[in-house]
Amino acid sequence: MTTSNVSRRAFIAGAAVAVSALAVGITPRQARAAGEALPHLSDKDPMAKALHYSDNATAVSKAQNPTYKPGDRCSKCRFFQGKPNEASGFAGCQIYPGYSVSAKGWCASYNARA
Ligand code: SF4
Repeated sequence: MTTSNVSRRAFIAGAAVAVSALAVGITPRQARAAGEALPHLSDKDPMAKALHYSDNATAVSKAQNPTYKPGDRCSKCRFFQGKPNEASGFAGCQIYPGYSVSAKGWCASYNARA
């Protein structure tokens, strides 16, 4: 995946979340809190499967995911909508609307927080 693809995906995901929140009349903070209550993303979900999502980053195959680096995990990703040390262990993700992801998970859309 190229850097421009990641940037484009980040822009589209951010815009989709903002539009969705506005459409239902909630603030981004409310959307974040609601994310914890969303159903947990399954690694069997077609999009999760395509992006090699795992709820356990330490189990990610480096051979299949050359961009994965030990220590990368959802709680450090810019798309994760929870706090870095999310108490519930799960929060929404901009890439998977309608689901929550594990703070200890990882997928190929990982993009480290600045
Ligand atoms: S690595 Fe980032 S994009 Fe992928 S599931 Fe985790 S929070 Fe979402």
